Amino acid sequence: MRAAYDCDVLVIGGGIVGLSTAYAITRAAPGTRVTVLEKEPGPARHQTGRNSGVIHSGIYYRPGSLKARYAVRGAAEMVKFCAEYGIPHAVTGKLIVATDRSELPRLHALVQRGRENGIPVRELGPSQIMEYEPEVRGLAAIHVGTTGICDFVAVARQLARGSGAEIRYGTRVVRVDRRPERGVAVLTASGDIVRGRVLVNCAGLYSDEIARLTGDDPDVRIVPFRGEYYELARPELVRGLVYPVPDPAFPFLGVHLTRGIDGGVHIGPNAVPALAREGYGWGTVRWRELGATLTWPGSWRIARRHWRYGAGEMRRSLSKGAFAEAVRRLVPGVSEGDLVPAAAGVRAQAVLRDGTLVDDFLIREGERTVHVLNAPSPAATASLPIGREVARRALQVL
Ligand SMILES: Cc1cc2nc3c(=O)[nH]c(=O)nc-3n(C[C@H](O)[C@H](O)[C@H](O)COP(=O)(O)OP(=O)(O)OC[C@H]3O[C@@H](n4cnc5c(N)ncnc54)[C@H](O)[C@@H]3O)c2cc1C
Repeated sequence: MRAAYDCDVLVIGGGIVGLSTAYAITRAAPGTRVTVLEKEPGPARHQTGRNSGVIHSGIYYRPGSLKARYAVRGAAEMVKFCAEYGIPHAVTGKLIVATDRSELPRLHALVQRGRENGIPVRELGPSQIMEYEPEVRGLAAIHVGTTGICDFVAVARQLARGSGAEIRYGTRVVRVDRRPERGVAVLTASGDIVRGRVLVNCAGLYSDEIARLTGDDPDVRIVPFRGEYYELARPELVRGLVYPVPDPAFPFLGVHLTRGIDGGVHIGPNAVPALAREGYGWGTVRWRELGATLTWPGSWRIARRHWRYGAGEMRRSLSKGAFAEAVRRLVPGVSEGDLVPAAAGVRAQAVLRDGTLVDDFLIREGERTVHVLNAPSPAATASLPIGREVARRALQVL
């Protein structure tokens, strides 16, 4: 019977979540045959390879949520994993800085939340901010000790190597045929058929489409939000990681300054609608995908509810001067000329029909399927616990 299948678990998506799932399956149940299908020629070409590279502490997330639990645990595990495999990383700590009086209650709420999540935080006044970051100005700040940075692409590669899974790059899944008694068969763009006993969907920006191909309609849509970055031409202006106080209405953290593992300082990401799921610039438009976003009622509800926030983000996307102005609130010495355009990323944000941006990680099961339907930031940080949870659910089906 087993021979009728090409593998036991078929994972779609070779980003950090799919690879962590493959890794966790072969650790929890040695001998399980796992195949990962990835449409790109290598791992981590989308969200995993286009992010801020920050190991998030877990301070932002609602206590008890999957994000809070997996980020706190995942951050510690990620540091250990990187140390074990010689992957570049550092535990740098970070500052969250209030620059306006109206932000102070939210900053204090974050202190409280951090403590509830068991995260070491230190409250700072203006002069203490300058001890950490001489060029940063603010009314108050908090220092979060457990935040770090790492190379998530190297982590993904190591997970791929360590998983022992068969990984087929350049393999796009275009159709899925699920037969409850016979497992799952997928058709690839090159016409091959791959059969597994259970299918795990870790397709990131396309996770809702893959779910629908299996016949499970998740009733959420991925709405792609691009995050644009600049590189700071004078990296000496910033020592570490500097964040604004986020707006709690959004799962985005606001434009921040991050000294990456490469020593450069990245500034971003903002959050603007992308015109394609892998639309890394305004020039990339995929009409079918844009049409799917526009016909989802949730997209219009977001636009109606959050047009003011959206207009600000669009302005900062279209005008470098406006972007620089936002950065100057934190670091007054930054000028427009200091900003060098850098590669953008696109977030796979799940949105409900009523326009709610799904805040927590979302994993759903169907018959012989496990779908990861919302794995935005901090899912790279939390990828080891997420992978274990998805693996646990997939193994139950076998
Ligand atoms: C701008 C930005 C900044 C971020 N900053 C951080 C941060 O600092 N820290 C943090 O922890 N997280 C951060 N994140 C979030 C983090 O990058 C993601 O949560 C994480 O990478 C999600 O991994 P994934 O494997 O689910 O998705 P992905 O990395 O997108 O992988 C999905 C894979 O599925 C493949 N795929 C899709 N469709 C198919 C198909 N039909 N057939 C075969 N393969 C398919 C894709 O090619 C892709 O490789 C950020 C994200 C963005 C966009």
